[in-house]
Amino acid sequence: MLPVKVTIDVQGRTMAAEKVQNATVRAALTKMGKEIGSKLATARCPEHGQTPTDVRVHVSASGDADLKYESCCEKLRGVVGKALG
Ligand SMILES: [Zn+2]
Repeated sequence: MLPVKVTIDVQGRTMAAEKVQNATVRAALTKMGKEIGSKLATARCPEHGQTPTDVRVHVSASGDADLKYESCCEKLRGVVGKALG
Protein backbone atom coordinates (compact mmCIF):
# COMPACT_ATOMS: atom_id res chain seq x y z
CA MET A 1 0.00 0.00 0.00
CA LEU A 2 1.21 3.47 -0.86
CA PRO A 3 1.40 6.10 1.85
CA VAL A 4 -1.23 8.77 1.23
CA LYS A 5 -1.19 12.09 3.01
CA VAL A 6 -4.70 13.31 3.74
CA THR A 7 -5.46 16.92 4.66
CA ILE A 8 -8.71 18.78 5.16
CA ASP A 9 -9.91 22.38 5.26
CA VAL A 10 -10.99 23.25 8.77
CA GLN A 11 -12.22 26.81 9.25
CA GLY A 12 -10.02 28.04 6.43
CA ARG A 13 -6.93 26.18 7.56
CA THR A 14 -5.35 23.06 6.16
CA MET A 15 -5.16 20.34 8.77
CA ALA A 16 -3.60 16.88 8.62
CA ALA A 17 -6.19 14.10 8.91
CA GLU A 18 -4.59 12.68 12.06
CA LYS A 19 -4.91 16.06 13.80
CA VAL A 20 -8.65 16.35 13.25
CA GLN A 21 -10.46 16.47 16.62
CA ASN A 22 -13.71 14.88 15.48
CA ALA A 23 -13.11 11.12 15.67
CA THR A 24 -15.74 10.30 13.04
CA VAL A 25 -14.24 12.71 10.53
CA ARG A 26 -10.74 11.56 11.37
CA ALA A 27 -11.71 7.92 10.84
CA ALA A 28 -13.40 8.73 7.52
CA LEU A 29 -10.34 10.60 6.27
CA THR A 30 -7.99 7.85 7.40
CA LYS A 31 -10.17 5.27 5.64
CA MET A 32 -10.18 7.33 2.45
CA GLY A 33 -6.39 7.54 2.49
CA LYS A 34 -6.07 3.80 3.01
CA GLU A 35 -8.51 3.01 0.22
CA ILE A 36 -6.67 5.21 -2.24
CA GLY A 37 -3.32 3.85 -1.07
CA SER A 38 -4.40 0.26 -1.60
CA LYS A 39 -5.91 1.01 -5.02
CA LEU A 40 -2.65 2.61 -6.09
CA ALA A 41 -0.40 -0.04 -4.53
CA THR A 42 -0.22 -1.97 -7.79
CA ALA A 43 -0.18 1.05 -10.11
CA ARG A 44 3.07 0.99 -12.00
CA CYS A 45 4.28 2.77 -15.10
CA PRO A 46 4.53 0.22 -17.93
CA GLU A 47 7.55 2.02 -19.28
CA HIS A 48 9.54 3.07 -16.23
CA GLY A 49 8.26 0.66 -13.56
CA GLN A 50 7.69 3.60 -11.22
CA THR A 51 4.86 4.02 -8.74
CA PRO A 52 3.18 7.35 -8.07
CA THR A 53 4.99 9.23 -5.28
CA ASP A 54 4.07 11.97 -2.83
CA VAL A 55 0.40 11.01 -3.02
CA ARG A 56 -1.83 13.44 -1.20
CA VAL A 57 -5.52 14.10 -0.96
CA HIS A 58 -6.98 17.40 0.12
CA VAL A 59 -10.60 17.56 1.17
CA SER A 60 -12.21 20.99 0.84
CA ALA A 61 -14.66 22.49 3.30
CA SER A 62 -17.48 21.41 0.98
CA GLY A 63 -16.23 17.83 1.03
CA ASP A 64 -14.63 17.59 -2.41
CA ALA A 65 -11.51 15.46 -2.49
CA ASP A 66 -8.61 16.58 -4.66
CA LEU A 67 -5.93 13.99 -5.39
CA LYS A 68 -2.38 14.99 -6.26
CA TYR A 69 0.77 12.96 -6.83
CA GLU A 70 4.07 12.95 -8.65
CA SER A 71 4.47 10.67 -11.65
CA CYS A 72 7.29 9.83 -14.01
CA CYS A 73 5.20 10.38 -17.13
CA GLU A 74 1.75 10.48 -18.72
CA LYS A 75 1.57 6.70 -18.95
CA LEU A 76 1.68 6.37 -15.20
CA ARG A 77 -1.03 9.01 -14.90
CA GLY A 78 -3.18 6.87 -17.18
CA VAL A 79 -2.59 3.77 -15.04
CA VAL A 80 -3.43 5.73 -11.88
CA GLY A 81 -6.63 7.06 -13.45
CA LYS A 82 -7.72 3.51 -14.26
CA ALA A 83 -6.76 2.17 -10.84
CA LEU A 84 -8.95 4.78 -9.16
CA GLY A 85 -11.71 4.08 -11.68
ZN1 LIG B 1 6.74 6.48 -16.75
